Amino acid sequence: MGVIAKGAKCNVDGCTNDGTRSLNTARVETAGLKVNSTGKKTVLCKSHYKEYKKESKDDRALERARYDKF
Ligand SMILES: [Zn+2]
Repeated sequence: MGVIAKGAKCNVDGCTNDGTRSLNTARVETAGLKVNSTGKKTVLCKSHYKEYKKESKDDRALERARYDKF
């Protein structure tokens, strides 16, 4: 967990920063970030991850649902 393939870039539309976090695409979109990722996983750079965290503070229930799924 938390390991990003070398060279992975942030998937937020228009962002070209290096990715630091890999997250569920649906969750990132729910947080209001526009991503160009088509897969289940979205890579976020440091600053967009911060933004994502800010928008999804109250997501403990979601987090649990996510783990239940796997
Ligand atoms: Zn970014």
